[in-house]
Amino acid sequence: MADILFLAPLPDFLTQPLLAAHRCHTSMDGREEMIRAVVGQGGTSYSREILERLPNVEIISVLGVGYDRVPLDYCKARDIRVTNTPDVLTDDVADIAVALVLMTSRKLVAANRYLHERKWLGGPFEMASALRGKTAGIIGLGRIGKAIAHRLAAHGMEIAYHGRHAQTDVPWRFCSNLVELAREADFLIVACPGGAETRHIVNAEVMAALGNVGTLINIARGSIVDEAALIDALATGTIKAAGLDVFENEPHVPAALLSAPNVVLLPHIGSNTQETRRAMADLVVRNLAAHFAGQPLVTPVRM
Ligand code: NDP
Repeated sequence: MADILFLAPLPDFLTQPLLAAHRCHTSMDGREEMIRAVVGQGGTSYSREILERLPNVEIISVLGVGYDRVPLDYCKARDIRVTNTPDVLTDDVADIAVALVLMTSRKLVAANRYLHERKWLGGPFEMASALRGKTAGIIGLGRIGKAIAHRLAAHGMEIAYHGRHAQTDVPWRFCSNLVELAREADFLIVACPGGAETRHIVNAEVMAALGNVGTLINIARGSIVDEAALIDALATGTIKAAGLDVFENEPHVPAALLSAPNVVLLPHIGSNTQETRRAMADLVVRNLAAHFAGQPLVTPVRM
């Protein structure tokens, strides 16, 4: 039985198996030296300052695939292991990306509102635009990016992608330059990790290249997009629309985005289904069990 610190509110189906096997705490409260494991969500801060207060922490288990808020170099130096929950959430997140593409291209939110406001009685809803033949430019063709690509190809879209490396085993066009990808894309879809390396890579220049028939979709991390530049691009018509599941300062969403007519906003629900959240929780439990039993971790983050 080990002492585990919960750094964020966690679902019952995760806390219950952990409580059955360990002593679990929701605050440090003088127990700093006892804590051997830390558990939190993908968006939780696992800052160096917090970890410095825990001299005996051995493992951080993230309920999420993104570990951009874990200081990996510091963890490596202290031999703190890190796990995340890849693969099990891929399909759900890709589904939300496709939903945002459809909601923005076919104006589904506005159409729904139009009917509820009884405006249909006065005439048909405005025409939207089709997906077939349009190009999706995916930033980060990893597990989620590939699942998005397969789905959008089935919708008749052309696929191109950007990343640090070209991939030889995919049929889609690689674009080494992000501005060029944006220029080609009708939908620029962000699916790469957050963190210092990708902070604000989707900036004013990229949005200018995406252009006034282009839509930005972000299901990855808010930090990747310069939100102030996005607000400006939406307001000035530099880009056509945006569909966002993630924001720079969650759960706070700028008023300018809330009131913009050409956006669809979701409260970070990419992996938020009963089935997937349970599968993610199961991975956290199995990783911690493996760690404390001296077994290989199930889904370690490579450092
Ligand atoms: P993967 O590690 O499988 O894929 C990440 C991809 O991003 C890789 O193809 C990599 O390709 C590319 N990449 C990495 N660094 C860069 C960079 N600097 N510039 C451009 N591309 C880069 O991750 P997943 O597909 O599993 O997850 C992707 C992200 O989605 C997560 O990190 C997480 O932040 C986010 N996410 C959001 C969720 C939500 O609820 N909205 C839920 C789950 C995940 P290459 O190595 O060639 O650069």
